[in-house]
Amino acid sequence: MKYNKKSIEDVCVKGKKVLVRCDFNVPQDEDLNITDMTRIYGALPTIKYLKDKGARVILCSHLGRPKGEFKEKYSLKPVAAALSKELGCEVKMAEDVIGESAAAMVASLKDGEIGLLENVRFHKEEEKNDPDFAKKLASFAEIYVNDAFGTAHRAHASTAGVADYLPAVCGYLIQKEIDVMGKALDDPKRPFVAVLGGAKVSDKIGVINNLLEKVDTIIIGGAMAYTFAKALGADIGTSRCEEDKLSYASEMVFKALCKGVRFMLPCDSLAADHFAADAEPKLVDTYSVGEGYMGLDIGPKTIEAYSKAVKDAGTVVWNGPMGVFEFDAFANGTRSMAKAIAESDAISIIGGGDSAAAVEQLGYADKMTHISTGGGASLEFLEGLTLPGIACLADKE
Ligand code: ADP
Ligand code: MG
Repeated sequence: MKYNKKSIEDVCVKGKKVLVRCDFNVPQDEDLNITDMTRIYGALPTIKYLKDKGARVILCSHLGRPKGEFKEKYSLKPVAAALSKELGCEVKMAEDVIGESAAAMVASLKDGEIGLLENVRFHKEEEKNDPDFAKKLASFAEIYVNDAFGTAHRAHASTAGVADYLPAVCGYLIQKEIDVMGKALDDPKRPFVAVLGGAKVSDKIGVINNLLEKVDTIIIGGAMAYTFAKALGADIGTSRCEEDKLSYASEMVFKALCKGVRFMLPCDSLAADHFAADAEPKLVDTYSVGEGYMGLDIGPKTIEAYSKAVKDAGTVVWNGPMGVFEFDAFANGTRSMAKAIAESDAISIIGGGDSAAAVEQLGYADKMTHISTGGGASLEFLEGLTLPGIACLADKE
């Protein structure tokens, strides 16, 4: 995939109606108060730029899963209120997505004014990428800006379909994702180290396979490590294991050997006799976890080796926690990796929902070069797949 996409700075937006796809899929409490403003803050730079340049800004997004019909619970009204407050100006709210209210709101916008359409998923045509729906949405505007990286791996009407009818560019959020992750994959500062953990090998198959072509070192942690260990002959006890991925796992180790990629597996583990927060941790050798025991975190020797590898790195991509970090007794591996990556001079990229949450929770977020705003989208990016929401944007000349 080509990553040199035109951005909002490459087009003239003054006096133009600009449709901006944002990610306003915010968490809310029972009274619909927004409980985490991260996504709203993330959208502000693009919105402010367009406003300051005198564009007529038409924002749109999805929120939750309303399954194709209007539900007050999934209304974007609280988002309009939050945006108004943050921007210090009115953000007009339409009552619908492509109906009369939306059309009237768009028509009322003056240069530098901002309006928000209702939840695009109030129409089932959105997720079906229905061309008529996309065309109707596009008819409100003269330029399309995609700034929703979290949905860029989906070909929906508002994330990709509208680009068939309008000149399409990226906003600052997507631009940063492409710049940092695209550069890491195309032309990384070496040594390039990938740290992969989390629950399932099957979720990360594409990522491991693609990164093996690019990295100098692959570090494996999390539950995934035990499938690899078993494939190489270890006694992993009752550790989580994907039996149908054993041959894939050994194939990946073989591929790493052939390519001269250093492939690191945990030499020691913290194990427990049951899966619970209050389980007693027992230090074991990963290659003989022992009957009745399951590995729930990487051990101290592993932490030392892994930390050294990331400290010496030029680029680190991290996806997936090293252990069951939700349980305090088994959070040390993930915490130590976050610390080592934060302290390293390497360009550090965190992808994946749980890994990003772990880094935030542990307080290392501002020490990382980039925390991807899209879990599924960042995984597909690291897999080297084409993301429809990015592929549809115009290339730079
Ligand atoms: P991400 O969202 O960052 O891609 P995943 O969803 O793949 O990460 O994996 C996160 C989950 O993996 C966490 O809930 C964590 O508890 C679990 N996990 C990590 N290590 C183990 C392990 N050894 N045994 C069981 N579950 C694990
Ligand atoms: Mg996850």
